[in-house]
Amino acid sequence: MREPDCLFCKIAAGEVPAEIVREGERTVAFRDINPQAPTHVLIIPRDHFPDAATAGRARQGLLDEIAAEAEEIARADGVAGNGYRLVFNTGTGAGQTVFHLHGHLLAGRGLEWPPG
Ligand code: C5P
Repeated sequence: MREPDCLFCKIAAGEVPAEIVREGERTVAFRDINPQAPTHVLIIPRDHFPDAATAGRARQGLLDEIAAEAEEIARADGVAGNGYRLVFNTGTGAGQTVFHLHGHLLAGRGLEWPPG
């Protein structure tokens, strides 16, 4: 289930290059091209969902799986111990620019709260 013009569908299919850090049956994780922290990884489903809200309704367990992937990647990067942030920007008002669900895993520096 993919969208022909979706950049992240193309990354998931290996048609657009990305620095892949982990791949599963349903998810792919790659380093953000414009990192905002020493560890900044995007975790996406292979299937296309525009955002976390639609994915959460349509595919039970997918967001849980992304959270579990984030934990594994944070451990593998050696940053899990100091904490990390998993963010789903949902909608343009929240800063979403790519409309294929992605969790941002951010870690490796102090993270302010509330975020900007
Ligand atoms: O949450 P938002 O939609 O703004 O996040 C999109 C993210 O995708 C950005 O952090 C951007 O740097 C990243 N990106 C990427 N590789 C691309 C295009 C965008 O890592 N080829």
